[in-house]
Amino acid sequence: MVRQDKITFLVSYFHWHVPVPRPQIVDPLDGLIQIVLDPVDPLIAGSEKRDLLLQSVGAWSNLTTMSVESLTALCQVEHLPHKRVQTVHRILNWWETGGGIKGFAAINHLSNHHLIARLCHIPGIGRTTATLFLALILKRDLLPITRPIHRVLTRVGIVSRHATEKHLADQLNPVIPCERYFALYWQLLHHSQQYCTVRTPLCTECPFAEHCDKYRHKNDWCPI
Ligand code: SF4
Repeated sequence: MVRQDKITFLVSYFHWHVPVPRPQIVDPLDGLIQIVLDPVDPLIAGSEKRDLLLQSVGAWSNLTTMSVESLTALCQVEHLPHKRVQTVHRILNWWETGGGIKGFAAINHLSNHHLIARLCHIPGIGRTTATLFLALILKRDLLPITRPIHRVLTRVGIVSRHATEKHLADQLNPVIPCERYFALYWQLLHHSQQYCTVRTPLCTECPFAEHCDKYRHKNDWCPI
Protein backbone atom coordinates (compact mmCIF):
# COMPACT_ATOMS: atom_id res chain seq x y z
CA MET A 1 0.00 0.00 0.00
CA VAL A 2 1.16 3.55 -0.77
CA ARG A 3 0.20 6.50 1.40
CA GLN A 4 -0.91 8.86 -1.34
CA ASP A 5 -1.74 11.62 1.18
CA LYS A 6 1.88 11.64 2.32
CA ILE A 7 3.16 11.75 -1.28
CA THR A 8 0.90 14.75 -1.87
CA PHE A 9 2.19 16.44 1.27
CA LEU A 10 5.84 15.83 0.33
CA VAL A 11 5.39 17.04 -3.24
CA SER A 12 3.63 20.19 -2.05
CA TYR A 13 6.24 20.89 0.67
CA PHE A 14 9.16 20.37 -1.70
CA HIS A 15 7.57 22.49 -4.38
CA TRP A 16 7.79 25.56 -2.14
CA HIS A 17 10.98 24.83 -0.21
CA VAL A 18 13.51 22.85 -2.24
CA PRO A 19 14.44 24.22 -5.67
CA VAL A 20 15.17 21.73 -8.43
CA PRO A 21 18.14 22.27 -10.77
CA ARG A 22 17.50 22.16 -14.48
CA PRO A 23 17.99 18.58 -15.64
CA GLN A 24 21.09 18.36 -17.79
CA ILE A 25 21.03 17.13 -21.36
CA VAL A 26 23.48 14.26 -21.37
CA ASP A 27 24.52 11.94 -24.18
CA PRO A 28 22.96 8.52 -23.35
CA LEU A 29 26.28 6.66 -23.36
CA ASP A 30 27.95 9.27 -21.16
CA GLY A 31 24.92 9.30 -18.92
CA LEU A 32 24.97 5.54 -18.46
CA ILE A 33 28.70 5.63 -17.65
CA GLN A 34 28.16 8.43 -15.12
CA ILE A 35 25.43 6.47 -13.40
CA VAL A 36 27.51 3.29 -13.27
CA LEU A 37 30.47 5.18 -11.78
CA ASP A 38 28.41 6.94 -9.14
CA PRO A 39 24.85 5.70 -8.69
CA VAL A 40 24.20 7.77 -5.54
CA ASP A 41 24.63 11.18 -7.09
CA PRO A 42 25.34 10.54 -10.76
CA LEU A 43 24.50 13.98 -12.07
CA ILE A 44 27.26 15.57 -10.02
CA ALA A 45 29.87 13.19 -8.70
CA GLY A 46 29.59 10.73 -11.58
CA SER A 47 30.85 13.21 -14.12
CA GLU A 48 34.06 13.72 -12.12
CA LYS A 49 34.87 10.01 -12.18
CA ARG A 50 33.82 9.78 -15.80
CA ASP A 51 36.12 12.71 -16.71
CA LEU A 52 39.01 11.17 -14.77
CA LEU A 53 38.52 7.79 -16.44
CA LEU A 54 38.24 9.31 -19.91
CA GLN A 55 41.29 11.48 -19.29
CA SER A 56 43.29 8.40 -18.19
CA VAL A 57 42.46 6.31 -21.25
CA GLY A 58 42.38 9.12 -23.83
CA ALA A 59 39.33 7.81 -25.67
CA TRP A 60 36.61 5.30 -24.85
CA SER A 61 37.76 3.07 -27.71
CA ASN A 62 41.12 2.63 -25.89
CA LEU A 63 39.34 1.31 -22.82
CA THR A 64 37.57 -1.41 -24.78
CA THR A 65 40.88 -2.91 -25.90
CA MET A 66 42.56 -2.87 -22.49
CA SER A 67 43.43 -6.14 -20.78
CA VAL A 68 42.04 -7.03 -17.36
CA GLU A 69 45.51 -6.48 -15.82
CA SER A 70 45.89 -3.01 -17.34
CA LEU A 71 42.39 -2.09 -16.21
CA THR A 72 43.17 -3.19 -12.64
CA ALA A 73 46.45 -1.21 -12.63
CA LEU A 74 44.68 1.87 -13.97
CA CYS A 75 42.05 1.73 -11.23
CA GLN A 76 44.71 1.36 -8.55
CA VAL A 77 46.73 4.33 -9.81
CA GLU A 78 43.73 6.61 -10.32
CA HIS A 79 41.77 5.37 -7.26
CA LEU A 80 38.80 4.45 -9.42
CA PRO A 81 36.22 1.81 -8.35
CA HIS A 82 37.45 -1.34 -10.06
CA LYS A 83 34.17 -3.22 -10.38
CA ARG A 84 32.37 -0.18 -11.72
CA VAL A 85 35.12 0.46 -14.27
CA GLN A 86 34.79 -3.18 -15.38
CA THR A 87 31.07 -2.55 -15.95
CA VAL A 88 31.93 0.55 -17.99
CA HIS A 89 34.28 -1.67 -20.01
CA ARG A 90 31.39 -4.08 -20.69
CA ILE A 91 29.03 -1.24 -21.62
CA LEU A 92 31.56 0.14 -24.10
CA ASN A 93 32.05 -3.29 -25.66
CA TRP A 94 28.28 -3.68 -25.87
CA TRP A 95 28.12 -0.26 -27.47
CA GLU A 96 30.93 -0.96 -29.96
CA THR A 97 29.54 -4.30 -31.02
CA GLY A 98 26.30 -2.67 -32.05
CA GLY A 99 24.20 -3.49 -29.04
CA GLY A 100 24.44 0.06 -27.78
CA ILE A 101 23.90 1.85 -31.06
CA LYS A 102 21.05 -0.39 -32.05
CA GLY A 103 19.79 -0.42 -28.49
CA PHE A 104 19.88 3.34 -27.97
CA ALA A 105 18.46 4.04 -31.41
CA ALA A 106 15.54 1.81 -30.63
CA ILE A 107 15.01 2.75 -27.00
CA ASN A 108 12.37 5.35 -27.64
CA HIS A 109 10.13 2.57 -28.88
CA LEU A 110 10.70 0.34 -25.88
CA SER A 111 8.55 0.40 -22.79
CA ASN A 112 10.22 1.07 -19.44
CA HIS A 113 9.83 -2.58 -18.54
CA HIS A 114 11.54 -3.85 -21.72
CA LEU A 115 14.30 -1.28 -21.59
CA ILE A 116 15.14 -2.11 -17.97
CA ALA A 117 15.21 -5.81 -18.86
CA ARG A 118 17.55 -5.13 -21.81
CA LEU A 119 19.99 -3.06 -19.76
CA CYS A 120 20.00 -5.61 -16.95
CA HIS A 121 21.44 -8.14 -19.40
CA ILE A 122 24.76 -6.29 -19.25
CA PRO A 123 26.69 -7.84 -16.32
CA GLY A 124 27.13 -5.27 -13.55
CA ILE A 125 23.95 -3.37 -14.37
CA GLY A 126 21.08 -3.95 -12.00
CA ARG A 127 17.55 -2.68 -11.83
CA THR A 128 18.47 0.45 -9.84
CA THR A 129 21.13 1.52 -12.33
CA ALA A 130 18.80 0.86 -15.25
CA THR A 131 16.00 2.84 -13.60
CA LEU A 132 18.31 5.76 -12.85
CA PHE A 133 19.34 5.80 -16.49
CA LEU A 134 15.73 5.86 -17.69
CA ALA A 135 14.67 8.55 -15.23
CA LEU A 136 17.66 10.89 -15.19
CA ILE A 137 19.07 10.57 -18.69
CA LEU A 138 16.09 9.59 -20.83
CA LYS A 139 13.67 11.62 -18.68
CA ARG A 140 11.17 8.80 -18.48
CA ASP A 141 8.33 9.15 -16.00
CA LEU A 142 9.46 6.96 -13.13
CA LEU A 143 11.03 7.40 -9.74
CA PRO A 144 14.37 5.62 -9.21
CA ILE A 145 14.29 3.79 -5.88
CA THR A 146 17.91 4.11 -4.81
CA ARG A 147 18.93 3.43 -1.20
CA PRO A 148 18.60 7.05 0.01
CA ILE A 149 15.19 7.41 -1.66
CA HIS A 150 14.05 4.08 -0.24
CA ARG A 151 15.22 5.15 3.23
CA VAL A 152 13.17 8.36 3.26
CA LEU A 153 10.07 6.77 1.74
CA THR A 154 10.00 3.94 4.24
CA ARG A 155 10.90 6.04 7.28
CA VAL A 156 8.18 8.58 6.54
CA GLY A 157 5.79 5.66 6.02
CA ILE A 158 4.83 6.24 2.41
CA VAL A 159 5.56 2.61 1.58
CA SER A 160 6.14 -0.48 3.66
CA ARG A 161 9.76 -1.06 4.56
CA HIS A 162 9.25 -4.77 3.85
CA ALA A 163 8.38 -4.29 0.16
CA THR A 164 10.89 -5.13 -2.57
CA GLU A 165 12.24 -2.40 -4.85
CA LYS A 166 10.23 -3.69 -7.82
CA HIS A 167 7.08 -3.88 -5.76
CA LEU A 168 7.65 -0.33 -4.52
CA ALA A 169 8.21 0.98 -8.03
CA ASP A 170 5.01 -0.67 -9.30
CA GLN A 171 3.00 0.82 -6.46
CA LEU A 172 4.55 4.28 -6.34
CA ASN A 173 4.95 5.37 -9.94
CA PRO A 174 1.22 5.51 -10.75
CA VAL A 175 0.51 7.89 -7.83
CA ILE A 176 3.29 10.44 -8.45
CA PRO A 177 1.88 13.60 -10.06
CA CYS A 178 2.76 14.15 -13.73
CA GLU A 179 6.04 15.95 -14.39
CA ARG A 180 7.15 15.54 -10.76
CA TYR A 181 9.28 12.43 -11.11
CA PHE A 182 12.66 14.09 -11.58
CA ALA A 183 11.85 16.86 -9.09
CA LEU A 184 10.74 14.37 -6.45
CA TYR A 185 13.83 12.23 -6.97
CA TRP A 186 16.11 15.24 -6.61
CA GLN A 187 14.30 16.61 -3.59
CA LEU A 188 14.19 13.26 -1.79
CA LEU A 189 17.90 12.81 -2.46
CA HIS A 190 18.56 16.28 -1.06
CA HIS A 191 16.41 15.47 2.00
CA SER A 192 18.25 12.19 2.57
CA GLN A 193 21.57 14.04 2.62
CA GLN A 194 20.39 17.07 4.58
CA TYR A 195 18.24 15.45 7.28
CA CYS A 196 17.48 11.77 6.82
CA THR A 197 21.00 10.37 6.94
CA VAL A 198 21.67 6.66 7.51
CA ARG A 199 22.85 6.69 11.12
CA THR A 200 21.99 10.00 12.74
CA PRO A 201 18.95 11.55 11.08
CA LEU A 202 18.26 15.12 12.22
CA CYS A 203 14.67 14.34 13.16
CA THR A 204 14.19 17.29 15.51
CA GLU A 205 14.98 19.66 12.63
CA CYS A 206 13.18 17.68 9.93
CA PRO A 207 10.14 19.34 8.32
CA PHE A 208 8.42 15.92 8.03
CA ALA A 209 8.85 14.86 11.67
CA GLU A 210 5.15 15.33 12.45
CA HIS A 211 4.25 13.01 9.57
CA CYS A 212 7.12 10.54 9.92
CA ASP A 213 6.26 7.02 11.05
CA LYS A 214 9.78 6.26 12.22
CA TYR A 215 9.98 9.40 14.33
CA ARG A 216 6.52 8.86 15.77
CA HIS A 217 6.98 5.08 16.17
CA LYS A 218 3.92 4.30 14.09
CA ASN A 219 2.79 1.56 11.70
CA ASP A 220 5.80 -0.42 10.37
CA TRP A 221 8.00 1.36 12.90
CA CYS A 222 5.81 0.50 15.87
CA PRO A 223 8.16 -0.92 18.56
CA ILE A 224 5.88 -3.88 19.44
S1 SF4 B 1 11.78 12.70 10.98
FE1 SF4 B 1 13.79 11.75 10.97
S2 SF4 B 1 13.52 9.69 10.13
FE2 SF4 B 1 11.70 10.92 9.63
S3 SF4 B 1 12.10 11.73 7.56
FE3 SF4 B 1 12.74 13.27 9.06
S4 SF4 B 1 14.91 12.88 9.38
FE4 SF4 B 1 14.05 11.04 8.42
